[in-house]
Amino acid sequence: MLTLSRNHDAVSQSEIRAMTIACAKAGGINLAQGVCDLDVPSVVTAGAAQAMQDGYNVYTRFDGLIELRRAIADKQKRFTGLAYDPEGEVTVSCGATGAFYCACLALLDPGDEVIMFEPYYGYHVSTLASVGAKTVPLRLSAPGWSFTPADLTRLATPRTKALVLNSPMNPLGKVFTRAELQMVADFARERDIFVFTDEIYEHFLYDGAEHFSLATWPGMRERTIVISGLSKIFSITGWRLGYTLCDARWAKAIGHFNDLVYVCAPAPLQMGAARGLNELPESYYHGVAAEHLGKRERMCRALTTAGLTPIVPQGAYYVLADLSRLPGADDRERAMFLLEQTGVACVPGRAFFSDASGAGLGRFCFSKRDPALDEACARLARLG
Ligand code: PLP
Repeated sequence: MLTLSRNHDAVSQSEIRAMTIACAKAGGINLAQGVCDLDVPSVVTAGAAQAMQDGYNVYTRFDGLIELRRAIADKQKRFTGLAYDPEGEVTVSCGATGAFYCACLALLDPGDEVIMFEPYYGYHVSTLASVGAKTVPLRLSAPGWSFTPADLTRLATPRTKALVLNSPMNPLGKVFTRAELQMVADFARERDIFVFTDEIYEHFLYDGAEHFSLATWPGMRERTIVISGLSKIFSITGWRLGYTLCDARWAKAIGHFNDLVYVCAPAPLQMGAARGLNELPESYYHGVAAEHLGKRERMCRALTTAGLTPIVPQGAYYVLADLSRLPGADDRERAMFLLEQTGVACVPGRAFFSDASGAGLGRFCFSKRDPALDEACARLARLG
């Protein structure tokens, strides 16, 4: 009999893509997808163009060009103090998405349980589901959005194999504190589990928030799979460049799956990213954060004026806002109402929760060029 796989539903069209399609149909402004369409640093584009001229147009090694692996390891050392060997501990993949998928394929078995803070990034859940692992959500709640060691212990079972930590967090904008990371580290060591840390928003920090890499905690480097990428910080979401950093024992298998699924990341684009990492000064990263702080302020002001109270993020570039004053039976209807009335698309809150808790919420991405962002803000503010 011709049937789809049992798993196919786990990766059915996401709310984000669905709203993106609805927005395109309505000719609206898409604040649903985290596309980050800002200018790409010229050294990055020039580096890729030069690489094409220089013949970097064939498969690279399965774990990436040495130029990029070295540049990633150097940057990680600069920013966190942690050393990773570019020959065996750095795996370049197709986006942080590809990196996480390959890490899951390499380290998880069907039936394994993985604890994840909620609200979560839906792709993490779908990726786990696609390898047969089960997401065990740890709900964070207003106003503190924190947790206790007891919350972690309560969710642990003999099948717990890993925990996913996304900080700064999409969609909440939470940046985990040192004390919270200590709790995660204690728990992971005690239970002898892996931690996948999605650190793709590591440089998008506001109000003095600091990013700490969990792998720097004693005993954590060996069990932490650092996942990050260049999509956000260089505004190159379409280039598909991400990576894992981890102990060579795990990196070897992650690399084998990366070879199987992608063969390699795009060769000339790897060279562009390497030049960006090597040549852009630290001030570049602070500049991106400062630019996004201004965008966050405008976005939150407009949402407040519209009566859609925002949860002001400390990091990343999304705002969760309270849509409950809008007409509609649930978050989808409210998001559609907003799109019809203002032409501004957001993601219905359900995308980030395992139950109906997101029904009153919507997520707005503010990593947009100023003209589009200002127009979206003006339209939202008029709703008030
Ligand atoms: N991880 C998180 C938390 C994200 O929000 C996103 C994109 O929105 C990604 C990963 C995707 O990153 P990439 O483009 O490197 O696959």
